[in-house]
Amino acid sequence: MIVVMSPEATEQEISHVVQKIKSLGLTPHAEKGEVRTVIAIIGNVAILREHSPEAWPGVENVMPIMKPYKLVSREFQKHDTIIDVKGVKIGGKQVHVMAGPCSVETKEGLISVAKAVKASGATILRGGAFKPRTSPYAFQGLGEEGLKYLADASAATGLPIVTELMDPRDIDIICRYADIIQIGARNMQNFRLLQEVGKTDKPIVLKRGLSATILDLLMSAEYIASEGNRKIILCERGIRTFETATRNTMDISAAPVLKQLTHLPVIIDPSHGVGKWDLVAPMSKASIAAGADGLIIEVHQNPEDALCDGPQSLKPTKFDVLMKELKKVAEAVGRSM
Ligand code: PEP
Ligand code: MN
Repeated sequence: MIVVMSPEATEQEISHVVQKIKSLGLTPHAEKGEVRTVIAIIGNVAILREHSPEAWPGVENVMPIMKPYKLVSREFQKHDTIIDVKGVKIGGKQVHVMAGPCSVETKEGLISVAKAVKASGATILRGGAFKPRTSPYAFQGLGEEGLKYLADASAATGLPIVTELMDPRDIDIICRYADIIQIGARNMQNFRLLQEVGKTDKPIVLKRGLSATILDLLMSAEYIASEGNRKIILCERGIRTFETATRNTMDISAAPVLKQLTHLPVIIDPSHGVGKWDLVAPMSKASIAAGADGLIIEVHQNPEDALCDGPQSLKPTKFDVLMKELKKVAEAVGRSM
């Protein structure tokens, strides 16, 4: 249910409504818009029938949210959410590119990639310290040492960092270093993990699960939002289909579909989407043309020797050429870069 307050509603009336909702055992989530405040009510809202919320002072209108996801829906919030990460505004007119290696390997390597991607126009540095690998024998990431290298690379370039959290036991240490927490595809429906990051105030990149529908992705985002954290960036990264020519099938329609259904920023990861470096450029251009608010791209100083995802990683020189092309695509669709 949504309670729309009238533009003239006073602060007192708004807090009265919030208190009233709480006293009925329901959870209010208020969103202060430029003109009016809208309050989503979560819980067993049937009880409201006996309390005529339409008649509460300052209330203009009361209506149901038809979708199963509530706080992340466009029904609840009409305007786009813009997430500010140390001055980088994700979800606005400017398209942002997050770039860096799949996994953090060496300090020197990471700093050199960070400097290169920054010079090419990337605004966020990516890099995994805790890696979700299919094989237990594959490189699992450097753990805290990797986080320290990310901090060094961030200090050297000024780029905020995004890094993956796999386990609630690592949440404190990840929060100490990360500017954005990534929830990987394999954990998209790890609901306890989603609830934990929902209690933090860090922006979250939530990647679509390997076999998740758009509805599944939005319900997972709702898990985070329902705990209080609405700074969520949704990420399409390819799904499993019968097609084997690419690593995954990149669902480009996810961008415009999600932009209709939710107010949250949407980014696309063409590196995992296709799994081949030479397909990253065309899919990146298509993503921006389709309305994505940003991209996350794997870049490695020497992809042949990468410990993870080398075949889909761009060399810094190739990334630089791509960024120049992407700027033109962004401008052609009314965005900046
Ligand atoms: C990654 O970003 O390196 C990663 C493991 O992504 P995903 O969870 O989408 O596979
Ligand atoms: Mn990767």
